[in-house]
Amino acid sequence: MILHLNDTHDPALTSWVDTANEADTDFPLQNLPFGVFRRLEGPSLAIGVAVGDRILDLAKVLETGSFSASDALRDAAHQPSLNALMALPPAQHSHLRARLSAALSTTASAPLRRRVAPCLEPMSGVMLALPVVIGDYTDFLTSAWHTERHGRFKGLQEPLPRAFFSLPVAYHGRASSIRISGTDAVRPWGQIRSKDGSVRFAPSAAMDFELELAAYVGQGNEQGHRIPVADAGRHLFGYCLMNDWSAKDIQWWEQVLGPFLGKSFMTVVSPWVVTAEALAPFRGELPSRPEGQAPTPEHLATAEGTLDIAMEAWLQTRAMREAGTAPVRLSATTPRHLSWSFEQMVAHHTSNGCNMRTGDLLGSGTVSGEEASAMGCLTEMTAAGTVPLTLPSGERRHWLEDGDEVVLRARATREGFVPLGFGECRSRILPALPPG
Ligand code: CA
Repeated sequence: MILHLNDTHDPALTSWVDTANEADTDFPLQNLPFGVFRRLEGPSLAIGVAVGDRILDLAKVLETGSFSASDALRDAAHQPSLNALMALPPAQHSHLRARLSAALSTTASAPLRRRVAPCLEPMSGVMLALPVVIGDYTDFLTSAWHTERHGRFKGLQEPLPRAFFSLPVAYHGRASSIRISGTDAVRPWGQIRSKDGSVRFAPSAAMDFELELAAYVGQGNEQGHRIPVADAGRHLFGYCLMNDWSAKDIQWWEQVLGPFLGKSFMTVVSPWVVTAEALAPFRGELPSRPEGQAPTPEHLATAEGTLDIAMEAWLQTRAMREAGTAPVRLSATTPRHLSWSFEQMVAHHTSNGCNMRTGDLLGSGTVSGEEASAMGCLTEMTAAGTVPLTLPSGERRHWLEDGDEVVLRARATREGFVPLGFGECRSRILPALPPG
């Protein structure tokens, strides 16, 4: 289903929350992403909506009776995760978005503003939490550039596997170790093959980030029933940024069946879920498919374009932090470079009857393009650790070192629309645990 534009996307809309009208905010009135937060003074989690530098407490605003809401929505708003909200029919999400937009708009009546204002609080005064209980996590591999470069580094005869343009390649990831932005990753230990062929158990010496876009499943499907590609958009609730921390040396030795311990120690996501509806104006072209490839299989063929947003990865080393030097941008890319859309990933994932469940997380795979500036991981930038990257600080990196912090950001912009941001996905590498 192609999400149509409506009043909530109107670029002329402004909010009585002044910071939502600032040109560089990630959270203008046209965004309204959902998250889960904890007040500093209490342990309980609440669902919030970001607007400017404020968070609107969803349960609290529904209690004011300012606008109509189903019993199911009221119940969902009181949960400590977004899952029950995400499981509602898309029409209810759309209705809620329209009501929130109207209540926060400068066109809202004075009495309505008076009821809603006490439900807002400064974002700086709360802690954001993992917004979704993620049952299953699947990471795809949809950039031909990333896949082919990795294939070459590994010396594969066919660096881009034949299946790549036939289906969106994926593996089942580990959901238990997905963490919220701000959580640091301890360098993992694992089996590593040395140049002389010996294998030792040691801390990874090839730590890398992977810049990815990820999507949360809203309504799932019954086992045995496919989600047709034309309906897949209705099952995608929203999007976030994801850093798929990787220990490439562990991964490259173990990967007989697929990635395992080289990935499962930690994956980090950004806290705000930017809804598919908010991103409706930012659809790009059809997924890229080089000439000479067989046509997209019929059950995966779609008329819908991929998301066209600007994604970036930034690095700040410990030395840079101590010297007060700003982070350096390592990567500027876009999902336009990907060969498969999230709708196609959902259709493929369920094409054998596999059931998706509310809260499942799908990663795009590293979002890399053709240009060196659009490489979404260090492995590509350093030719698998053989050509070091020299940073403006003079430091060199074959791989990430302890204390290195990676920050992912994304922004959707299009002429005629108000730009939306994703917030950030931030995480640092901590030293490995001692032996034993
Ligand atoms: Ca990945």
